[in-house]
Amino acid sequence: MRSEREKPEIPDADPPAASLVAPATDRPLSCLFIDFNAYFAGVEQHDHPELMGKPVIVTPLASEHTGAIAASYEARPFGIKRGTKVADARKLCPGIAVMPARHDRYVVVHKQLMTEIERHIPLEKVYSIDEAAFRLSRSEQDPARAMDTARRIKEGITRNVGPALRSSIGIAPTRLLAKLAAERVKPDGLTVLRQEDLPHALEDIPLTDIPGIGAGVAARLARADVNNFMALWRLQPKQARAIWGSVMGERFWHGLHGFETVEEPTKKSMIGHSRVLTREHEAPEKARIVARALLLKAASRLRHYEMHASSVSLSVRIRPEGGWQSARRFKHSQDSFLFLKLLDEMWAELCANQRRKGPLPRLGGVTVYLHGLAKCGETALEQLELFAEPERVEKDARRAGLWKAIDDINADLDAKFQRLGTPTAKGEHKRHISLASQSGLALNYLGVKIAFSRVPEEAEFLY
Ligand SMILES: [Mg+2]
Repeated sequence: MRSEREKPEIPDADPPAASLVAPATDRPLSCLFIDFNAYFAGVEQHDHPELMGKPVIVTPLASEHTGAIAASYEARPFGIKRGTKVADARKLCPGIAVMPARHDRYVVVHKQLMTEIERHIPLEKVYSIDEAAFRLSRSEQDPARAMDTARRIKEGITRNVGPALRSSIGIAPTRLLAKLAAERVKPDGLTVLRQEDLPHALEDIPLTDIPGIGAGVAARLARADVNNFMALWRLQPKQARAIWGSVMGERFWHGLHGFETVEEPTKKSMIGHSRVLTREHEAPEKARIVARALLLKAASRLRHYEMHASSVSLSVRIRPEGGWQSARRFKHSQDSFLFLKLLDEMWAELCANQRRKGPLPRLGGVTVYLHGLAKCGETALEQLELFAEPERVEKDARRAGLWKAIDDINADLDAKFQRLGTPTAKGEHKRHISLASQSGLALNYLGVKIAFSRVPEEAEFLY
């Protein structure tokens, strides 16, 4: 029996805000979520090809008295799943392969898989050893193209890592929806969930199968008479907030309704900027300066959050239609020189690529991102690097220190100018540290402060 007193205070529904009733087509398929099927069992089959296509379970230790932590899809028709006791599994499927877990090996294969997928699209966030979200560029957000990209990823994994590592891929406007899409077809699924498919495409999903709805939230939802997906869908953001008892509810609501929200700075997985190019900057050489300025701005924020990045991506929109993108990986760094060098490499690749097709096109927009962020010294990987390559780490710290000093001076200048009022566009050119003469970028064009009124070359720094 449920008493009225237990009910959380849920605000009444309002008419939806204008910003929340944007046409469904405004929510692009920007996320590709990949979930490896029975991952530990898959790695065992990968390393022991004689087990391919056979029932396999993985156990936490070499003991008959434990339960499976993974079961291959071939074991499942026998009624064997995660949690099944080894003795029961042997009874249900005589001859089943019982493999003790090798976690270090699963990490190695995880890295191989991420490297392979990042040859196709940039990583947004690793959720666990067998789940990660990737970002689809604007030119790939058409459902057919997104499916093509996903198929290329699967083929790449089969060819370059191994056919035993099967996955389910979901493509949707947000990470939450993409994960739910990936869950729809297992194993080896590929599911696109468009905004206009909602809510009906998910109406049968049990609430507790949705990430973000644990037992506690499920109980609170039940007390608010939200017992199925359709009722969940009808909630408004402020009602979700009241039920969750925190801003997490509102964030969940946004994820569910196709609006990607920015994560907390400390949980950031990428920092970047995007700019639509006006006529003045649409020539590739001009656009390159804009891209460099955007990257410097992102790098300054990276240092502000005391984080390191480990990859940089560039995507451009090509007029009248089309796009191009690339990414580079590197050891964790805060050094803008390194980022600029890699950006220039990608830019040269872009131009070479386009030249093969004819004269260089006009560009409609540029986006740069720093990915693979980690708090300074936080990751095991960084610790390893620190021991393995003290000289590189020291050099990076020295250069980052230099850039940090410039960041600080520019922040001081900003604060001063803010007290004195907004400077003119002309005055603005003089407000930041500038290292040599170069007809640069009109700052007011960017509409936001950037670290430099012009973009320095590494050689201009003496140290
Ligand atoms: Mg999985």
